[in-house]
Amino acid sequence: MYKFILTAICLSTISLTAKIIETKSFQEVPSYVDVDTLLVFDIDDTLLIPVQMLGCDEWFTHRLNLHIDQGMSFSKALDRSLAEWEAIRHLTEMEVVEPGTEEIVKQLQGKGVPIMGLTTQGVALSHRTILQLKSHNLDLSLTAPFTTPHYFEQRDLGVLFRKGVLFTSGTGKGTALFTLCDHFGYAPKKIVFINDKDSHLQDIEKEAEKRGVEFIGLRYSYSDGRKAEFDPHVAELQFKNSGFHELLTDEEAHAQKLEILAETNF
Ligand SMILES: [Mg+2]
Repeated sequence: MYKFILTAICLSTISLTAKIIETKSFQEVPSYVDVDTLLVFDIDDTLLIPVQMLGCDEWFTHRLNLHIDQGMSFSKALDRSLAEWEAIRHLTEMEVVEPGTEEIVKQLQGKGVPIMGLTTQGVALSHRTILQLKSHNLDLSLTAPFTTPHYFEQRDLGVLFRKGVLFTSGTGKGTALFTLCDHFGYAPKKIVFINDKDSHLQDIEKEAEKRGVEFIGLRYSYSDGRKAEFDPHVAELQFKNSGFHELLTDEEAHAQKLEILAETNF
């Protein structure tokens, strides 16, 4: 009996301090927020997504694998695909992943909820991404827990916090977030983090558990379908045949793909 009670207490403690919940819509986010919450948003595939396949996360992974398949070392392939991805992210238009997200963010900011962004994007993209967020009425600086920019290094790479967003340059989100909080002497009681990638949620979960911070990870599935539809051939056509002033849309690239297939078959 005592063993049962002890187990029950342990289980309830674990579920109180950390859990990851599958979340279909951004509308579910406010229900996890209370007065103790630091609310953290991933950016790619959570707040913003490129308007076409070129420039999305799946395209980056595709390019990385392509370079490796062509004989490049992993580090060189990573450098090359990051440079390509960052160049396209400077050129592409972005759109909000789920319509209405910006209104929910604004309502939560209106209630004074501390909110910030957390992305593995590199420092070089910080200015562009902040402008893209603003162009979609997403200003993560409004109720960010820190107003002062801060720069530090993690695994020899630059990590930058500015305008309410922490850019980790591909390094761990968990350690970066808590390093930033420590720098400003801020100890959140509870963190709610919404992200499309489970691994990034687990990263924060691990660090939060070490510090006894309550954590709720929301695994955001809204863009899963769109990600599954990624077509590397279409993205490659967009990459090779776009003008720098205007990227090929998915429809234009699909039409080119059909033309190529027709020429190949006949
Ligand atoms: Mg993401």
